[in-house]
Amino acid sequence: MDYIDPHIHMVSRTTDDYETLARMGCIAMSEPAFWAGFDRGSVESFRDYFRQLTEFEPKRAAQFGIQHYTWLCINAKEAENVSLSREVIAMIPEFLSASNVLGIGEIGLNKNTKNESTIFLEHVDLAVRYGQQILIHTPHLEDKYQGTKMIVDMLVHDTRVDRSRVLVDHVEEHTIQEVLDQGFWAGMTLYPVTKCTPARAADMIERFGPERLMANSAGDWGPSKPTAIPDLIMELKRRGHSRQLIRKIVCENPCEFFSQSKNFKAPSALS
Ligand SMILES: [Zn+2]
Repeated sequence: MDYIDPHIHMVSRTTDDYETLARMGCIAMSEPAFWAGFDRGSVESFRDYFRQLTEFEPKRAAQFGIQHYTWLCINAKEAENVSLSREVIAMIPEFLSASNVLGIGEIGLNKNTKNESTIFLEHVDLAVRYGQQILIHTPHLEDKYQGTKMIVDMLVHDTRVDRSRVLVDHVEEHTIQEVLDQGFWAGMTLYPVTKCTPARAADMIERFGPERLMANSAGDWGPSKPTAIPDLIMELKRRGHSRQLIRKIVCENPCEFFSQSKNFKAPSALS
C-alpha cells in the first residue's frame, strides 16, 4: 500500500534505506531538522545542514521515486545556547523559498527549561510571520506529559497560530486527547525502544478515531526502524480494519495536512 512517512531523518539513513522504503510503498516523506547527536558549533554548521535538507536529500529520494519534504529549525536540545539559536532563526528565512520546505520544525521542548520555551516561542513567531506550518517535537518519557501541556498552552496563548496548520508529534495515550481536543493534528511515533509500538498505535486509532491523526517512523541515527509504517499497516490489516481507514491514516491525512503548504504537491499515485 502506498504511504507517506511524515517524520523521518533521512540524513542519518543510507541510500539502501531509500530503496527499501520505495519497495515497501513509501511515496513521500517529510524530514524535520533535528539534533545531530552532538551540539553544532556555529550558525554555518546549520546553514550546511539546511543545504543538505533542501538540496541533497530531495535528489537522493527522487532516484527512488520518493518525494522529499523538509522542516527547518534549531532543535530543543541546542536551544540552551540562546545566542546561537537566535542566529539560526535569523538565517532560516534564506531557505524558506526552497521548493521542498513545508515549514518550521521539529520545534518543541526537551527538558522543559526556560531557555527552551524562549526559543520555542521565537520559532513560533517566525512561522507566523512567514505564513509557515509548524511541526512539533514533544519530550520523551517522564518529561512528556508536562512538556506537551506547556507546548499546547504556549500555542493556544498565541492567537495568531492556526491550529489546523500545526502537527504535534510523538503523542502517546496520555497526551493525544489534549492535542486533538485543542484542534491540532497528532502524530504517533513508532519506535522500537521508547515511544509507541504498532499495536499501541492501532489501539489509539481505535480509541480516538482517524481524524487529524497520522503515524511516523522518526527513523534516525539511533535505534529506530524506518519501515515502521508498513508494520502498522500490517497490524491494522490483521485486526480487520478497512483499506479505507488504513489509507486515511498513512496517506490521506498527511496529504491533507501538508497540502496547506504551497510547496506540497500531492503524489501522483494519490490523484
Ligand atoms: Zn525527529
